[in-house]
Amino acid sequence: MFGKKAPDVLVVGAGPVGLYSALVLARHKIPVTVVDKAWRPASRAYALALHGASLDLLEEVGLVGRVLEKARRVDTVGLYEGSDRKAEVRLTAGDRRAFVAVMSQDRLEGLLGEALEALGVPILWSHRISHMEEAGDRVHVAVDKLEKESMGYGVARFDWTIAKSYDWKVPFVLGADGYQSFVRRSLDIPFPEVGKAQHFAVFEFETDADLGPEMRLVLEAERTNVLWPLPGRRMRWSFELEEFSGDELSRQKDRLLVQVGGDEYPVLDPEHLYGFLKERAPWFKGAIDDIDWRLVVRFEKRLATSFGRGRTWLAGDAGHMTGPAGIQSMNVGLREGHDLAHAIANVLKGDAGMEKLTAYGEGRTEEWSRLLGLAGAVKPLPKVDPWIAARAGRLQGSLPATGATLRGLMEQLGLHVE
Ligand SMILES: Cc1cc2nc3c(=O)[nH]c(=O)nc-3n(C[C@H](O)[C@H](O)[C@H](O)COP(=O)(O)OP(=O)(O)OC[C@H]3O[C@@H](n4cnc5c(N)ncnc54)[C@H](O)[C@@H]3O)c2cc1C
Repeated sequence: MFGKKAPDVLVVGAGPVGLYSALVLARHKIPVTVVDKAWRPASRAYALALHGASLDLLEEVGLVGRVLEKARRVDTVGLYEGSDRKAEVRLTAGDRRAFVAVMSQDRLEGLLGEALEALGVPILWSHRISHMEEAGDRVHVAVDKLEKESMGYGVARFDWTIAKSYDWKVPFVLGADGYQSFVRRSLDIPFPEVGKAQHFAVFEFETDADLGPEMRLVLEAERTNVLWPLPGRRMRWSFELEEFSGDELSRQKDRLLVQVGGDEYPVLDPEHLYGFLKERAPWFKGAIDDIDWRLVVRFEKRLATSFGRGRTWLAGDAGHMTGPAGIQSMNVGLREGHDLAHAIANVLKGDAGMEKLTAYGEGRTEEWSRLLGLAGAVKPLPKVDPWIAARAGRLQGSLPATGATLRGLMEQLGLHVE
């Protein structure tokens, strides 16, 4: 299979965006291969909710039924500070399927992977892109097949070595290779920081608290805290930290179980969790059991200065990064994968010209400039609650929606997005 025939589109990265893009391409009957340098899929929740618009995208590839079987539905967002419930946003106020479906990222990736397998699309784990260059109407790509090699005796230790390298000439590369994107760096596209990074202490646990089909945002003067109900009796709390010095943790998407011990980072001790709840969410009274995932994550705000050129284009975290509250990175990423895959398929079939891809890139820059607060403005309507008005910018990045749906949710709060 691999090495015999180059695909028409090489998708770099088997995260949610790469897998979804590959599915769209495969349904167009475009020969596509996915490569990922990791040795296996993600094993954790990471981004955990699908916006209504993403459910429509999943319906297009025949997966929405399977997603909804396993997901937990969220219909409202409760806004809090301290003990006060300040406002409520109804996600279902607008169009047809406007609720949010809570499902862990690894489950979503699993469903996408199975759908690709059913269509015979190769997903090559332990395959890393190590060189890329456009020449004429092809992109020349070097792919290294990585292999675990046992090192030393007595104590088992492994290192990754290159077992083989392949050179492929492909008509298009779709770079969905995450925030450290090799594809983006090969194109020399800068990825500047455009806002202040945030650190969150994240805890997932079992609880008897039942807050109904609601996600909660605790918006203090400076800090944002988020509570997501998970399928079953579980919940995820994310508390924004004013400062955190363990930056070396970075935001690496770890394919192993990530469990940073409380001894190493005291902020992750159960005592700190109880302290956060007492101070920031005194209304949360549930018993806490089985804290099975706790970590500190750094979320940067970055935007690529372009989303690609010629025959190489970016989608997902490869082009943008933002805060976690509204799960916008992954959900907008899925739409990017959708739009880019359709555009590439149409170009390959001769139904569209390369300008379709340029338009894709321009649209991405425009939308993300707004979402990251670099362009456009959020204006309080007359008589809006001053508490809401003071948090207008933060709300735009924290509600689980984008585009027209997000504008509708902001209007419910008396905020107009220009
Ligand atoms: C601990 C954690 C918690 C998170 N929580 C949230 C949250 O609460 N809300 C939220 O919105 N987002 C959250 N995120 C971010 C979310 O996971 C990302 O937005 C999402 O994964 C982006 O999907 P993607 O497909 O664009 O990229 P990724 O999922 O990062 O996938 C990129 C893939 O590319 C592969 N790759 C990289 N370089 C190469 C190469 N040279 N060759 C081959 N393959 C390569 C990587 O191995 C990776 O599998 C979290 C992330 C982490 C790590």
